[in-house]
Amino acid sequence: MIYVIGHKSPDSDSVCSAIAVTELKRQLGIKCEARVAGDINAESKFILEKFGMEVPEVLDNAEDEDIILVDHSDLSQGVDGLEEARVVGIVDHHKLGDVETSVPVEVLIRPLGCTCTIIKGLFDYYRKEISKDIAGIMLCAILSDSVIFKSPTCTDEDRDAVADLAKIAGVGDVEGLGMEMFRVKSDVEGTSAKDLVMGDYKDFNMGGKKVGVGQLELVDLKMLDGREDELLEEMERLKDDGRDAVFLMLTDIMREGTMLLCVSRDAGLREEVFGENEDGWYDGMMSRKKQVVPKLEEFFG
Ligand code: MG
Ligand code: MG
Ligand code: MG
Repeated sequence: MIYVIGHKSPDSDSVCSAIAVTELKRQLGIKCEARVAGDINAESKFILEKFGMEVPEVLDNAEDEDIILVDHSDLSQGVDGLEEARVVGIVDHHKLGDVETSVPVEVLIRPLGCTCTIIKGLFDYYRKEISKDIAGIMLCAILSDSVIFKSPTCTDEDRDAVADLAKIAGVGDVEGLGMEMFRVKSDVEGTSAKDLVMGDYKDFNMGGKKVGVGQLELVDLKMLDGREDELLEEMERLKDDGRDAVFLMLTDIMREGTMLLCVSRDAGLREEVFGENEDGWYDGMMSRKKQVVPKLEEFFG
């Protein structure tokens, strides 16, 4: 059995890509099962419910398993035991990570806005049909990763994939669906500070330093009013657990910018890496992958 799995703190792309690749492989006569590397978030639940799909089971440890990775190829972000797994495939849209393989491997990494856009291309390449429900969840993953086309990571290919998938899924108002999703994601009332920080969180190994970057994408940052201290405390805890720095992007998808929280050994780190700034607000900052991680890697690497 091959397990198809995305990164820890699974986002909708990691969940929906695992399901979509599993379906494509099934049509190609290869037995796979979709798994997740942790509990899924409210947005992913909303998506799977909307299109009547089941939540994949959690895989706790990948040791000795055959694995296809989606939406990541960094050991620091993957399921536990990945070092001891047999990685047989990777479909991803991030920089190539540090996973090592022991068998010939099928890899497709492309600089697009979402793994599901790449998978849409794979279905087309193999001339396989995408069902209505699979099209629906893939469409939602692209809307999520591209922040309804606003992220600088979004490409024409992502837009085209959304148009095709919306037709198959019978979704008329794509942007309306995107806003509905982000409103679900923004409902942070009653969510603990820990869950807010860890909900979409990634660790990176940068030149031997461990750096964490989380992101919250909200339709209005007012929803976090009065909670900054709690969030910083949680980040402090992560830092004390062997990290050099921890960042949290509080991204306002309507104002199209980010309030960047930072906890590190070096007090002026945020300003040093991202520029002088009094209140921590960075206009136009939307993407961890394109606007935050490269600058940190340049600094630490
Ligand atoms: Mg992801
Ligand atoms: Mg992704
Ligand atoms: Mg994201």
